[in-house]
This record gives sequence, C-alpha cells and structure tokens, in this order.
Amino acid sequence: MQHISHWIGGRVVQGTSGRTGPVFNPATAEQTGEVDLASSAEVDAAVESAVGVAREWAESTLSARSEILFRFHHLVRTRRDEIARLVTAEHGKVLSDAAGEVARGLENVEFACGIPHLLKGGFSEQVSRGVDVHSIQQPLGVVAGITPFNFPAMVPMWMFANAIACGNCFILKPSEKDPSPSLLFAEMWRDAGLPDGVFTVLQGDGEAVGALLEHAAIQAISFVGSTPVARHVYETGTRRGKRVQALAGAKNHMVVLPDADLGVAADAAVSAGYGSAGERCMAVSVVVAVGSIADPLVEAIAERIPAIRVGPGDEAGSEMGPLVTAEHRARVASYLEGTALGGARVVVDGRHGVRNGGFFLNPSLVDFVQPGSPVYDDEIFGPVLSVVRVQTYAEAIDLVNANPWGNGVALFTRDGGAARRFEHEVQAGMVGINVPIPVPVGYYSFGGWKTSLFGDTHMYGPDGVRFYTRGKVVTSRWPDPSTSRVDLGFPRTR
Ligand code: NAD
Repeated sequence: MQHISHWIGGRVVQGTSGRTGPVFNPATAEQTGEVDLASSAEVDAAVESAVGVAREWAESTLSARSEILFRFHHLVRTRRDEIARLVTAEHGKVLSDAAGEVARGLENVEFACGIPHLLKGGFSEQVSRGVDVHSIQQPLGVVAGITPFNFPAMVPMWMFANAIACGNCFILKPSEKDPSPSLLFAEMWRDAGLPDGVFTVLQGDGEAVGALLEHAAIQAISFVGSTPVARHVYETGTRRGKRVQALAGAKNHMVVLPDADLGVAADAAVSAGYGSAGERCMAVSVVVAVGSIADPLVEAIAERIPAIRVGPGDEAGSEMGPLVTAEHRARVASYLEGTALGGARVVVDGRHGVRNGGFFLNPSLVDFVQPGSPVYDDEIFGPVLSVVRVQTYAEAIDLVNANPWGNGVALFTRDGGAARRFEHEVQAGMVGINVPIPVPVGYYSFGGWKTSLFGDTHMYGPDGVRFYTRGKVVTSRWPDPSTSRVDLGFPRTR
C-alpha cells in the first residue's frame, strides 16, 4: 500500500501526527494507499518553512518567475499522462476526462506565464503640476489553497499558477480522497527551478484546514468545495483578517426552449449530466424543459442512456467511471427512492445492472421533479439528472433565479433574442448558450453567484491576479526649488 506524505521545504516529509486516511481505487473498492493527516504542529512547521523564503521569492524578478512557469508548463505537458493516470486511480474518472482536466488546468499556467504583462501597473502623468501617479501590485506573502476531490489536478492549478507567479508562497491542502497528484506537481515545481519552500503540500483533513485558518502568517485562502465548508472557511478566515475566496456547491440548470434542436440538446444533457459521473461542480443536474419539448426531450435522453459505457476509468472504451467512495455512492443512490423524490417519476434507475466490485452507479433520469423535494433542492453530485417541466420561458427563468445556487447555467435555443434576454436576466456566474458546461477559459475568471461563492473575487484569470496581490498607489513629485513654497491648503488637482 502506498504511503502519501507532505512536501515541505522542497522534499517529502513523513507525517508525525499518527493520523492517516484511506485512499481507494474507486473502480475496485480496494484501499490502495494511506495519506498522512497533518496536525496543527505540522501546519505550523509547513507555514514556517514558507515564511522563511517568502521575502526572497517576493523579490524575485518577473522574468525569473516567468521562466520557471514556462519550465513548469513544459513538465506538466510532458508528464500529463502520468498525472491523468494518478487522477483516474484515486478519483475514478475515465482517463480521457482526467487528461481533459490536466489540459484545462494548464491554461492557468499558460496565463500565469504572462506575469510580467499581468503585473503592469497604471501611470498617470501630471495629475497636478509636476506630480505623477503610478500603481503597483505586490504579493501578499504566504497563501493557502484548499481543494476538493473532484478535480485533484485542475483546481490546484487554478490557484497555484497565479499565486506563485504573483510572488507568493503557496501551501496546497489537497483533498484527502485523492492526494497523490499534488506530490507530482511538487516534484515538477522543484524540477522547474522553483526555490524550496515556495510550494508546499500539506496533506490533511478538517484539522489541517482549521489550523491554516487560525495561522496568523497565512494572508489569504482560496477554497473550492461544498457550500457548508466554503461558508465556514469564508466566515472563519475573514474573521481572522484573511482575504478569502471560497467557491462552493452548485445545482446547474439547463433550460431547453421548444425551438431547440432536440438531438443537440439531448446529447448535451447526457454529456453534461453524466460526464465524470456527475461529480463536476459545473455538471448539469436539472434540465428545465419548456413547453412542448418535454416529452420528446425526456425520451431522447432516456434513449441515449443505455449506450453509455460505465466501467473502470483505465479500461479502454469506458465513458463513465465509478463514484469516489462507497459512502458517496450510497448517498447519491438514496435520491432515487422514497420521500427524496417528492412524487417525481424515475424514468431510468441507475441502481439496476450495476457492475460489481467498485463504487459504480449507472446513470439515472428522474422526470416531473418539483422544487421543495430533496432530489431538486440538494446538490446530489452524482449521475442523477432531474427534469423539471415548465410551460413558459418566464417560468424557467424564475425557477433558475429562485435557486439558492448560481454557479453555471445553460440555455438551448435557436432564438438569438431569447438567448440575449437569458444571458442578461439569469442570476448565475457562468452562462452557456448552447454550451452545457461553460467553464471560462483561463484568461477569464471562474466563479458563481449566490451560495456558489463566498467572497468578492472569482478564481483564476484576471481576478486571480487581483486576489493574490495588493495594490499600492504612489504619488510623486520631484523637488523643484524654483516653485517650492509653503501652502497649508488641501492638495488640489486643478
Ligand atoms: P468538501 O467540502 O467535502 O471538501 C473540500 C475541502 O475541504 C477538502 O480539502 C476537505 O479536506 C476540506 N474539508 C472537508 N470538510 C471540512 C471541514 N469540516 N472543515 C474544514 N475543511 C474541510 O468538498 P468535496 O466533497 O471534496 O468536493 C465536492 C464539492 O465541491 C461539491 O459541493 C462541488 O460542487 C464543490 N466544487 C465546487 C467548485 C466550484 O468551482 N464552485 C468546483 C469543484 C467542486
């Protein structure tokens, strides 16, 4: 069994807390590893190591940082299959999906390679006579990132590329369910020439998170995970005076208008509902069928489900892997019966014909779902797709906007006017028009509205640079003895 430890000061450091967590291969249900769970004393040691090099890294030149980022990018690209295999082994998603996650994460490294350009400040000449103003962005110091199980490669890249490029030391606390990719990244940072201590991996669970939240030297925390934990991290971190961005859960709706192309909409609903076994924060979990399209749409989705090949992520031909743990699988399956359904009708029951030996659950489709029932109200985070039927566009937009989450949303239509109106009216952070999973490219920023995000900035892209730096504005005048005089008035610009 593999033992997975911390990375502190440029090397693997064995845990001393005496606490470990199990790591499973979800396709076989076999425990393949155990991961160290840091105590608060180990958190202190990791933060101390980062603090020790923070000043030196903050003083590094922009070209030096950019060069390291380019080398890191090359290493990730070269070793991308290795990262994808590790993701599949511990998370369970199919290899092609894991490779896609690495590729999307790399966009953030590409963006951060341009750090000399991204940190250019503004300059205003002659704001008053002989007075100029310029702005600069400086690093925060030591920052931490706490990441979820569902993207063990991409979400860390969302955070650490910009954080390090901006001149900060970054402590990653990955999910204890799939911790291994973090150590591969650590090796790559070392091989790219990043000074020891600038990138740290602290394995752990809620105890490590609690210690990071309390540590006075941590200036900022980026978090991605479930809504209750995100709220806790945001409230605790900000109370301790830290800058916090906490991205949270979701219930993403896909509205299908009667004029939409039926085949395109059904393909999209199936891909976005069941891809990665529904364990994506941008997965479509509710199809809102408007008017006459409902019957043919439900039929078209149901027809496509038997063709989905469910199997181990590393088996050729598998399109959908298992869920991450036995507990999570049982929780997801519980939405297919009893009061959880609130009177909805199960059209396809994924509990039937399930493959033995892993945490597998086949795709499910539930029709006539109503708000107020757990299957609609809860974030299920599995391959259960709900259909809510409404009669009009107005009912559809009201439904989406009344939902407490506002991460992603999609509209399927051929009507440009309706699409224009939808993107204007809908209350969500990321909108797809005939695009079911509208994850912004790396040079925009990612973030939801309402209870899908706590904090003021979205993640990665331009917002990431803002989050990991603090601004300073310098007003300067070079002394000119010929015009100098005593003036007790308030400084004026005109
Ligand atoms: P989670 O909230 O259980 O865990 C996230 C992180 O928090 C992990 O590192 C975990 O160790 C830590 N953690 C767990 N419980 C904690 C506690 N009580 N106190 C402090 N720290 C704790 O989330 P998960 O199950 O790993 O990931 C799935 C969730 O993440 C879903 O809700 C999904 O929607 C969300 N997610 C959101 C986004 C987004 O961008 N909005 C992206 C990916 C995932």
